[in-house]
Amino acid sequence: MFSCVGYAASSATAPLQPFSFERRDCGPHDVQIDITHCGVCHSDIHTVRSEWGESAYPCVPGHEIIGRVVKTGAEISRFKTGDLVGVGCMVNSCRHCPSCDAGLEQYCDSSPTWTYNSPDTAFPTAGAHTYGGYSGSVVVDSHFVLRVPENLDPAAAAPLLCAGITTWSPLAHWKVGKGHKVGVVGLGGLGHMAVKFAVALGAEVTLFTTSPSKVEDGKRLGAHRVVISKDAKAMEAEANRFDFILDAVSAEHDINAYLALLRQDGHMVLVGLPEKPMSVGAFALVGKRRSLAGSAIGGIQETQEMLDFCGKHNITADIERIRIDEVNEAYERVLRSDVKYRFVIDMATLPKAA
Ligand code: NAP
Ligand code: ZN
Ligand code: ZN
Repeated sequence: MFSCVGYAASSATAPLQPFSFERRDCGPHDVQIDITHCGVCHSDIHTVRSEWGESAYPCVPGHEIIGRVVKTGAEISRFKTGDLVGVGCMVNSCRHCPSCDAGLEQYCDSSPTWTYNSPDTAFPTAGAHTYGGYSGSVVVDSHFVLRVPENLDPAAAAPLLCAGITTWSPLAHWKVGKGHKVGVVGLGGLGHMAVKFAVALGAEVTLFTTSPSKVEDGKRLGAHRVVISKDAKAMEAEANRFDFILDAVSAEHDINAYLALLRQDGHMVLVGLPEKPMSVGAFALVGKRRSLAGSAIGGIQETQEMLDFCGKHNITADIERIRIDEVNEAYERVLRSDVKYRFVIDMATLPKAA
C-alpha cells in the first residue's frame, strides 16, 4: 500500500477538503497512473451530496481521469511507463456475464466497480469503497485503462472519459449520422460533447437550451439551429421533426415537451440523471410509436474507439482549468449552469500532504 492525497467530502453537506488515504500497490494485472488532470462531472456533485441515495464517506469523486503510467504489473505488455492514459467511470466488472462478454461492462449483471463510491473488490482494499480521480494517483486493472492519443491536449481530453463516451455511445448505438435530424437538450458538459459528436457524424443538429446566453456558443460548437426551450411557441414549431433526441439535463424537467418533437418511430434517449422521477404521458409515446430509452456511459472497447476518433478528428472538450482548491466554487457554478463547458482540475495544484 502507498499513501495518496486527494480531495474528499466527509458528508453530504461538507465541502471537499484535502484527504490522505492508502492505494493498493500495483498488482500483476494493474497499471499505476500519476494523475495530471481530472474533469468535474455533474455526477460527482450528485454523489458527493448523496442525491442518488446515501453515498459512502469520505467520498473522493472524479471519473474523468488523465495521467501518465508510472508502473505496470508483471503481466502487462500493453502499457509502458510514460504512456498517456485515461480512466473513466469503471475500474472493474465481473468479466463473464453476457454484458461483459459483449464489451458492455457498464451494464455488468453484478454491477461494475465504479471508479469512486463503489464497494472495492481488489486485494487488499476489498471491503472499503473506491476513491476517484480528485487525487494524485490511481491503480487500475489494465482492462479498464484507455490509451489517449498524444496529439490531444491532456486537460481538454479528460472530459472524454465520461462526458465524451456517455454521448458517443447512444449516438453510435442508434446509428446517428448523415440525413438525421438530431436534438440535444442542455448545453453542459455532456450536451456540448453531444453537439460536437453529432455534427462530426454528419447529422443536422438542433440544440435546446434554457440559457439564451448559450445561443452563440451552441452555433460555434457546430449546432445548425438553437431553440430556447422556455419559448413555448418556438418549441411547438419543432413538433414531429426529430429522428433522435439526446437529453443531457441534470435536473427535473418536462420530458413530454421533447417527446412531442420526435417524428413517427423517433427515439429519445436520456443520459441525464435527475434526482427525482419524471412523469411520461403515454399519449406522447403511443400516438406516433415513439421510443424513450436510457443509456449509461459506454463499454471499454467503444471508449477506446471514441478516443481514437477524437484523436483523428482533433475533438476535445471546451474546458475551464481550475486549481483543486477552487473545486467547491466550481460545483456552485455547475449548479448555476455557469461553466463553459467543463471544469478540469489541474492535479499539479494538489497539496503534497493532507
Ligand atoms: P452539467 O454540465 O451541469 O449540464 C447540465 C445542463 O442541463 C445545464 O448546462 C443546463 O443546460 C441544463 N439544465 C440544468 N438544470 C436545468 C433545469 N432545471 N431545467 C432544464 N435544464 C437544465 O451536467 P453534466 O455533467 O453534463 O451531466 C448532465 C447529467 O448527466 C447529470 O445528471 C449527470 O449525472 C448525468 N450523467 C449521466 C451519465 C450516464 O452514464 N448516463 C454520465 C455522466 C453524467 P442549458 O443551460 O443549456 O439549459
Ligand atoms: Zn460523469
Ligand atoms: Zn459482468
